[in-house]
Amino acid sequence: MNFHILTLFPEMVMNGLNTSIIGRAVNAGLLSIEAVNIRDYAFNKHQSVDDYPYGGGAGMLMQAEPVYLAYRAVAEKICGDAQKKRPRVVYLSPQGDVFDQKMAEELAGEEDLILLCGHYEGIDERVLEEIVTDYVSIGDYVLTGGELPAMVMVDAISRLVPGVLHNDVSAEFESFQDNLLEYPQYSRPEEWRGKKVPPVLLSGHHANIEKWRREQSILRTYERRPDLLEKCELTEKERRWLREWTASKNEGRKEEQQEKAE
Ligand code: SAM
Repeated sequence: MNFHILTLFPEMVMNGLNTSIIGRAVNAGLLSIEAVNIRDYAFNKHQSVDDYPYGGGAGMLMQAEPVYLAYRAVAEKICGDAQKKRPRVVYLSPQGDVFDQKMAEELAGEEDLILLCGHYEGIDERVLEEIVTDYVSIGDYVLTGGELPAMVMVDAISRLVPGVLHNDVSAEFESFQDNLLEYPQYSRPEEWRGKKVPPVLLSGHHANIEKWRREQSILRTYERRPDLLEKCELTEKERRWLREWTASKNEGRKEEQQEKAE
């Protein structure tokens, strides 16, 4: 998969993405990441890329033309005549759809992805209308630029590209798969500061381990992200088990409160 990041700060994204798993995947040829400096396409006297917004208001705005020319250069490289086939262009914006695992999975199917990073107060609307196919936010807060969000997206998408994680199974059984959070995990030693690893994990009984992990995933999602659980497909048996578990937990709580009151 090939990522093309349009940015005013290419060194920031390249430095952030050339280490560890992503850096190794790039070296192995599984991914390519290029950062295109939008300033290289500012063909004016001072190579300026920003100007005041019409109508007044605080801050500066990235101008349309350098962004458009940077996009055209990349689009022509990946699609030949960019007028015929439109590449997928994500504009990182707090106004976009919020990025999640499902979106990462969908985008991991693309061969090429252009990520457009805004800065200052954003980018002239006209060029966005012209080139952007997707508006994506990484959360409901405002950052100074789209570079960190682009890095977040490249990281999350890349680890879903076959071969990047070496062991494809490790991407399969993770949080958000089937709208469940991952079960708790333990490593050596078997006992750490008086805390023991749950015995079932040492039993070697594969079916029991799978059952325990599934139940732990359900409980963890119930406690930490009940919104996800609503979208999760549980079997009737699992729903009954969860109802019984919550009922006995509530009962335990009531008894605790009563004991305290006495
Ligand atoms: N004035 C813009 C607004 O209110 O929508 C915010 C501009 S922000 C200061 C500058 C740039 O940072 C944006 O153009 C966008 O590329 C990026 N950015 C900021 N917050 C983001 C977020 N939550 N998700 C994705 N990109 C973000």
